[in-house]
Amino acid sequence: MSPAEEKQAMLAAIIASTDDAIISKTLDGIITSWNPAAIKMFGYTEVEAIGKHISLVIPDDRLDEENFIISQIKAGVKVEHFETVRKAKNGKFISLSLTISPILDGDGKVIGASKIARDISERKKAQEKQAMLASIVAASDDAIISKTLQGIITSWNPAAERLFGFTEEEAIAKHISLIIPDDRLDEETYIIGEVSRGVKVDHFQTIRKTKDGKLVPLSLTVSPVIDESGKIIGASKIARDISAEQAAQQETARLYEHLKVLNAKKDDFIALASHELKTPLTSMSAYLQILARLETDSKNKTFVDKLQHQLKKLCALVDDLLDVSKIEAGKLHFSKDDFDLREVIEEAIDMIIHANPGYSITFENIISKYIITGDSHRIEQVIINLLTNAIRYSPDSNRLKVYLIEEDNQIKVGVEDYGIGIAQEKLQNIFSRYYRVDASNGKVSGLGIGLYICQEIVSRHNGKIWAESTLDEGSTFWFTLPR
Ligand code: ADP
Repeated sequence: MSPAEEKQAMLAAIIASTDDAIISKTLDGIITSWNPAAIKMFGYTEVEAIGKHISLVIPDDRLDEENFIISQIKAGVKVEHFETVRKAKNGKFISLSLTISPILDGDGKVIGASKIARDISERKKAQEKQAMLASIVAASDDAIISKTLQGIITSWNPAAERLFGFTEEEAIAKHISLIIPDDRLDEETYIIGEVSRGVKVDHFQTIRKTKDGKLVPLSLTVSPVIDESGKIIGASKIARDISAEQAAQQETARLYEHLKVLNAKKDDFIALASHELKTPLTSMSAYLQILARLETDSKNKTFVDKLQHQLKKLCALVDDLLDVSKIEAGKLHFSKDDFDLREVIEEAIDMIIHANPGYSITFENIISKYIITGDSHRIEQVIINLLTNAIRYSPDSNRLKVYLIEEDNQIKVGVEDYGIGIAQEKLQNIFSRYYRVDASNGKVSGLGIGLYICQEIVSRHNGKIWAESTLDEGSTFWFTLPR
């Protein structure tokens, strides 16, 4: 083999084995050679490609590029590292870097072009990802900083500039202690220690210092930066300014404290007012009783009766208010005696029937006697309250049912009405202080404290109270007392 032939053979071998597509074409763009890498890259076999126009692999919107390239080549100029996109047989676009050189004949005349195409899709993808990450970092509202394990700042985003007041230039290559208050320098040792072990430090709340010496509360998340070989080479730090958050928390705490004081004042006021009301009310009812006895005129007697009735309601309200203030102050006291629950219920029913003559109350019970230990007056208060409510909230019905049941080692008392009922979503609220269901507000007056007091009394007897209800059909209020 002559040296020229040898060189030829070597070139052919290189062309056959390279990863770059190597193509040659005439100045009219007709493909004249097509190496194995071109086959692999574009998907066309040699037979399919040779003799075809190079536009075979050029996307329609880039056909102009060919004119430019050919004009350069005709002028004998090499086109180097021309980044563009070409189309494969399967329609997929490939990012390429092209180097195109003129092919000269023996007389030095340009007769064609050789083209080396390198697939740069991966590089492009990596670049795009890099660019995307960079734009996220640039646009982030959180300060994002990276540093070496020695604490030397290696990157500093615009939010870091805004937060700490140092420009990128001022910060990069400086030690991170630039922004750490002197009394917190230890933290850096801890953070770097964690990161060096590959551990992320999450939501570390601390304080950092700005360029003008201002201290800002921050939440830091610091993660290890790992190189391709898996080695930890630094730390990336995301710092979020939490001063607004902290200020809001402090404001909430302040408002809460303020509210507590106001609430206590309100409780004090109610306690005082009801106490002050109680004394004149008591003497008024005493005088009214005397008046009722002395009055002979029947018309006047009716008025006195009405007065007594209204005064009773007023007294009951004031008593309830007093009870609420006692509950709030932890001063609602209970006596502890043995009593027959059945008897107490019957007495309460009698009283209610007496006050509401049109009503029929059925008492369903299977127990003849049931002795409990507790405060009989307070338990009676609960039953009267439930019965009164049952009547007040049943404008179109005149019957009630009361149950006394023994179940699971406890005694269950129920008051069932056929009144307006309570919507499911409001049921859990009715035992709260001052809570009233809107629908019943207009028609029936009240303060929303009766059930609250009932709940306190029952729970202080180690029992439970609840209601079952269907809107427009009626409610059953239950309470249990342990055996
Ligand atoms: P008050 O009746 O004075 O408003 P309560 O604490 O006794 O206060 O009752 C709280 C609320 O529960 C009432 O406002 C009423 O909306 C509702 N409620 C209580 N008992 C019944 C009942 N038997 N039927 C329907 N709603 C009731």
